[in-house]
Amino acid sequence: MNSIPVGVLGATGIVGQRYVSLLENHPWFRVSYVAASPRSAGKTYAQAVSGRWLMGTEIPPAAASLTVGDANDARAALGKCALVFSALEMDKQALKTLEETYAGEGIPVISNASVHRWTPDVPVLLPEINPHHTEVIRFQQKARGWKKGFIAVKPNCSIQSYMAPVHALNQAGFPAARMIVTTLQAVSGAGYPGVPSFDMIDNVIPFIQGEEEKTETEALKIFGTVEGGVIVNAGGPLISAHCNRVPVSDGHTACVSLEFALPKDKKPSLETIERVWTSFSALPQELALPSAPAHPIILRREPNRPQPARDRDVDKGMAVVVGRLRPCRVFDIRFAALSHNTRRGAALGGILNAELLKAQGFFD
Ligand code: NAP
Repeated sequence: MNSIPVGVLGATGIVGQRYVSLLENHPWFRVSYVAASPRSAGKTYAQAVSGRWLMGTEIPPAAASLTVGDANDARAALGKCALVFSALEMDKQALKTLEETYAGEGIPVISNASVHRWTPDVPVLLPEINPHHTEVIRFQQKARGWKKGFIAVKPNCSIQSYMAPVHALNQAGFPAARMIVTTLQAVSGAGYPGVPSFDMIDNVIPFIQGEEEKTETEALKIFGTVEGGVIVNAGGPLISAHCNRVPVSDGHTACVSLEFALPKDKKPSLETIERVWTSFSALPQELALPSAPAHPIILRREPNRPQPARDRDVDKGMAVVVGRLRPCRVFDIRFAALSHNTRRGAALGGILNAELLKAQGFFD
């Protein structure tokens, strides 16, 4: 029974549209409020996205007739939804303050934006890895005098493909010491209209503003520990990233070389690594959260997989697909990993966070 009313801020953008379409048949949540910039405010949702609806399915009828609110007016959402998904792309300082305003008004914010990823009492959630980080929310609320509202965020889309494989190995006693990560990131990651077609067709762009810094550091917060009401970053692994924009519509690939923080005789064999990955399961699977993939990590053994066009939609676009596992001549192992950037990496990842928070009793 989809009885919990939710709002989508930035509902007209790529990630916002993905939220609206994915929530159409969600068993717990229904979209009751949509908001975007003042350019869209006052129109019906169907009018606001007319000519720029990018999903493969039609606009959900229940959302089409909603009147778009001005996302800058947090009070406009009061009484209309139990939480908001934030998929806004705007001035970073203004967005940081705006998300805090929603939380201060008593509306929980599950954000896709990067502005609060480094706020120490805001969890950066990947529910298969750090579901316990939600415990900082009680401290966050207390420190700011918020009763019902809070902020939780999901990590950058570029890191999702290799985080679960690295975490699974760490949990099995095979921690990584150093990694070199080369990402091949889809154009949808840049929003709409995004990268000009003249720059993207027949081309690769070896630069994405701010992405390498996020790729190198967000993992440390996700692998961190909760101490004294804040998250203290893990000391490793040390990551060096090369982030590239490639002419793929959806699906971020990462090519990873990894060195274990273990003496030679303790390093896992390729067979052991395969076993660790294929048997990996975590709290979202145990709780049977509606958006959780049955198997968080799917291993492909063909020499030419994973590929975005063939593997990005596996299990609702929520599973990470790994392949090309082989020895590395410089570090220990090499592999390729793929995740869907607007599903696992954005909207459905945000929805999974909301499901986890609901299961943990953070909102009614
Ligand atoms: P987008 O397609 O450019 O959409 C931006 C949204 O923000 C639109 O709804 C837009 O409304 C609204 N907006 C813009 N300026 C505003 C303002 N001044 N006040 C209020 N609303 C405003 O961007 P996107 O790719 O969906 O990304 C949304 C967020 O998710 C960003 O923070 C991004 O970093 C993050 N993210 C994106 C991806 C991805 O794969 N694309 C993955 C992970 C995280 P109008 O339509 O009315 O202009």
